[in-house]
Amino acid sequence: MIRQITGTENTLYFPIVHFVECVLPQIVDGFFLEILPKEAMPNKCGETFPAEKKIQIREDIYELAIKGDGFARFSVAHEVGHLLINDVDSISLCRLEPGEKLKTYEDPEWQADAFGGELLMYYPLIRSMDEDDIAEQCGVTHRAAHIQNSKAK
Ligand SMILES: [Zn+2]
Repeated sequence: MIRQITGTENTLYFPIVHFVECVLPQIVDGFFLEILPKEAMPNKCGETFPAEKKIQIREDIYELAIKGDGFARFSVAHEVGHLLINDVDSISLCRLEPGEKLKTYEDPEWQADAFGGELLMYYPLIRSMDEDDIAEQCGVTHRAAHIQNSKAK
């Protein structure tokens, strides 16, 4: 759906920074992005607060994402996944009984990674590509390309 909204169905390199800055504010009412200095976020690259419609990205990661770094681009896409998938309702649905375990696909981290992978490596475009091409042309790491490629085939 996002690929359609943004008219990027034929674009290998998804403009994730542009999307977060210019498109998300239009489709998520009240959305805001906070770029935090490294000292304020020593142990993570980003964090999302779905109830507040807020995404925080660490400054160095955001700057790398602007430059096209694959890991940083994926980090931003992962946080977008948290914002769009894990709304307040789904969080309460995920509340577990004692002794109960989340299924893999119910894990919010798995979901956000899956979302990021789909967004940055659009299946109809990558299905006949090899991993090196995917990594280079979609602006992702080889590891991310490998995972997406093995899911797609
Ligand atoms: Zn996460």
